[in-house]
Parts: sequence; C-alpha cells; structure tokens
Amino acid sequence: MSLPVVAIIGRPNVGKSTLVNRLSGMMDAIVHDEPGVTRDRTYRSAFWRDRDFLVVDTGGLVFDDDTEFLPLIREQAMMALAEASAAIMVVDGQAGPTAADEAIATWLRQQSVPVLLAVNKCESPDQGLIQAAEFWALGLGEPYPVSGIHGNGTGELLDALMEFLPATSELEDIDEIKVAIVGRPNVGKSSLLNAFVGENRAIVSPISGTTRDTIDMVVERDGQRYRLIDTAGIRKKKQVDYGPEFFGINRSFKAIRRADVVLLVLDAIDGVTEQDQKLAGRITEDGRACVIVVNKWDAIEKDSYTIYDYERHLKERLHFTDWAETIFVSARTGQRVEKILDLVNTAAEQHKRRVSTSVINEVLQEALNWHTPPTTRQGRQGKIYYGTQVTTRPPTVALFVNDPKLFNDNFRRYIERQFRQQLGFTGTPLRLLWRGKKVRDMEQSPNRAVKV
Ligand code: GDP
Ligand code: GDP
Repeated sequence: MSLPVVAIIGRPNVGKSTLVNRLSGMMDAIVHDEPGVTRDRTYRSAFWRDRDFLVVDTGGLVFDDDTEFLPLIREQAMMALAEASAAIMVVDGQAGPTAADEAIATWLRQQSVPVLLAVNKCESPDQGLIQAAEFWALGLGEPYPVSGIHGNGTGELLDALMEFLPATSELEDIDEIKVAIVGRPNVGKSSLLNAFVGENRAIVSPISGTTRDTIDMVVERDGQRYRLIDTAGIRKKKQVDYGPEFFGINRSFKAIRRADVVLLVLDAIDGVTEQDQKLAGRITEDGRACVIVVNKWDAIEKDSYTIYDYERHLKERLHFTDWAETIFVSARTGQRVEKILDLVNTAAEQHKRRVSTSVINEVLQEALNWHTPPTTRQGRQGKIYYGTQVTTRPPTVALFVNDPKLFNDNFRRYIERQFRQQLGFTGTPLRLLWRGKKVRDMEQSPNRAVKV
C-alpha cells in the first residue's frame, strides 16, 4: 500500500516549510529522498485522525519578471503534482494576495488535482478571518486561515484535506506485498524469480505511468499476493559490457524505494561484499523491511559449524541490518526457496505494525528502571517524558525528552535494544526520534491525537 501524497505549493516565504513541519507534527525524519532530478523534493510523513499520508514541499515557486514560471521549477512542481492526491496552496495572509499568488492559482486551476487554499500567518484571532477572506479572489474556493507557527486552523485544514485522500478501503483492497529482489549480478536473482514464478500462480502486470520496461509480476500463494518489483530489471542480462562495478545500482535503488520488503540476495560462495553492504545501507536508510537470502547454499562444503560461522560473518559485515532474518537457500535445488515467502510475510507484518502508546511507555519505564539516562558533568540529566509510535512502514517511535543532546549514542542504542527485545520488530528497521519539544508545544500540534 503506497501512501497518498499531498503537495505543498506557493511562492517563497509564505511559510510552506513551517506548515509542513506543523502538518508532519512530531515527525521530522526525511522519509524518502530521491537522488537525481527530484533531489530537492523531500517527503515527510504525516497523519491525521486515522490516515497516514506523505507531504511533499515543492520548494518555492519562483517567477520571471513577466510572471512566467522558470521551466525547471515548474517541472518540479508538475512532478510533485503528478503523484499527488491533493495540493495545498499556501499564501501569506499578512501580505495579502500578490500577482505571484494569482499566477500560481491560475496555473493550479488548470491542473487536475484538487487544491485547498491555506492562508498562513493568520494567528491573530480578530484579523485572521478577514485576512483569509481576501483570498476568495484567487478562485480556489474557501480560504482556510491557518498559522504554521502557532498551529491555529490546521485541524480544519486537515479535516478538509481528508475528503480528497483516497478512501482507505480503496488502498487496502490491494493488499499485496511489494517485494524487490536485489543483489549483485550472478548471485541468482533471476533463478530465484523463476523459482517463485514456477511454483506460484503468476500474473504479469505492467505498472502504469512508468518506463515501459519496468514490469512487475504478481504471484499468489495461500491467498496472499506478492508484487515482484521490476522483474524486467532482474531478467535483463548483462549483454552490455559494463564495468565490474556497475550492476544497475540505480535500478536497484528504485526497486528498493517501491518495496515493502527487500530480498537482499547474496552469493554464499562470495560472502558479503562491499556492494552488498551498500545495498543493505540503502535498505535501512529507506526504511524498508528486509530478508537476507544467502543463495547457492548447495555449492558450499558444509560441516556442522558452517551456518553458525556464516551467521557470524553476516553479523559482522551487515551490522546495520542485523534486525533482518537470514535464510540459506538454493535456487538450483529449490532447497528452502518456499520458506522465503514466510519470512517476507513476517517482515511485512512487522513493518506495518502499530504498538499502543501504553505498551511503548511500559517498555520505556522498564528500560529506565535498569538504566538511568546519562548526567552531564554540570549535573544535567536526560529525562524521557514519554514515547509514542507516530508512524509505520517502518515503525517510528517519537520519544519526548527534555533535551536530545543529553542522550549519547550508547544510551540511544540501549533504548533501541530494549524496544527490540521487548517488542521484536523482526525484519524491519525501527526508528527512534528524540524530540526536545516542550509539552506545551505538543499540545498545540494537530497530530496530538496519536492513533494507537
Ligand atoms: P517558505 O519559504 O514558504 O518555506 O517559508 P518558511 O516556512 O521558511 O517561512 C518564511 C517566514 O515566514 C519565516 O520567517 C517564518 O518564521 C514565517 N512564518 C511562517 N509561518 C508563519 C506563521 O504562521 N505566522 C507568522 N507570523 N510567520 C510565519
Ligand atoms: P542474477 O544475475 O543475479 O540474476 O543470477 P542468475 O540467476 O542469472 O544466476 C547466475 C548464475 O548462478 C547462473 O549460472 C546460475 O545457474 C547460478 N546459480 C543460481 N542459483 C544457484 C544456486 O542456488 N546454486 C548454484 N550452484 N548456482 C546457482
């Protein structure tokens, strides 16, 4: 299930980034950061009531003197709009409507995306509505007075926004797990793919709107569908003589981004190489679930210590993904190949798992009973007020503390280990956000009503 995207659009300095911070509330981790042309688009996760969505700030739309969009920036905004379910146009209520606002509004009215108009900087209770009313002239419907800084009006804006997001049921009907098979050339990706497709009912399903040679395949087992991402990329053989370093890493990165669960395929004979580590790093950064598949297990001479030794080797070389489960298989003999999907199921489940605030705080309390947070030489001690899970895919827990700087890496790792030990989360990255917000600020956050 991919999350609906909301694009934030407006000229510079109207308060777009402030509003994005507000909408994404306590979350300020960058969720997706795409390299290349779209580098300056940053996706942030947000949720309101029971809906998760992504907010993308398009950057300020800039004009030439003759109110012509600079083509590149317009293209950026177009790309953001193309994938958006709705857009929020932000204007500055204290400045009033400008020619630039009108040009953007005119352009937005020609797009097929529903647009909400947020009149920002309307924190004044008497002036706000009057300031907002001036923007009826833009022809985008009702102007919503808001204040990105203070949080006023954002609840109404978000309520209105929910009407435009696709219904949850529409999204959840497609209850398939997206699986990317990645790894260096010759580790056996296409052999594995053939094994999956051979044993399960397969449907080739080109995905719309992307490059023609990106083809996904859907296989079904026990009523569960798995979308194998970019199978064309896996099958495409190395007819072209790329250098040894080249293995379509960008293509792999793209597949990782689209996946729920990534199968990181290793060659048992080679062990973990630098390129494997690079892929593992990317999987963690992107917050994808992962299963490590050690293929060609048939080609290894085994004695009773081999799996144990191998696991130790993997732990040392892939410590960033030490939360992932490992399976030793042979695509050639079919040994354990069927079991891979069981691990995929577990990882996908954990990736979208929500834990209630009370359980999170029980774990925290227990952890703090064993280890008090560090104290500085000046006698300042870290305090954790409480924690709550703010989003899933991957599970992300915000911890509200007096000052994040008071918590060193050792202590942070300790807390993370406690969460893992108590709650599992096998197969998925787990993110902890150390928030220094004061309790007073949080009470104004529109995201206060955390879904648990
Ligand atoms: P962007 O360029 O559209 O992303 O705008 P920013 O978020 O960087 O904000 C531009 C300026 O407007 C900053 O100085 C903010 O402090 C200020 N600003 C943003 N939101 C508000 C608001 O709700 N009220 C007031 N008074 N100022 C705001
Ligand atoms: P890809 O480049 O990652 O798609 O790898 P392929 O699936 O094309 O496999 C590369 C080579 O490894 C081929 O010669 C396969 O026959 C061989 N191979 C794949 N899986 C296994 C396996 O489980 N055991 C052994 N011994 N060889 C394998």
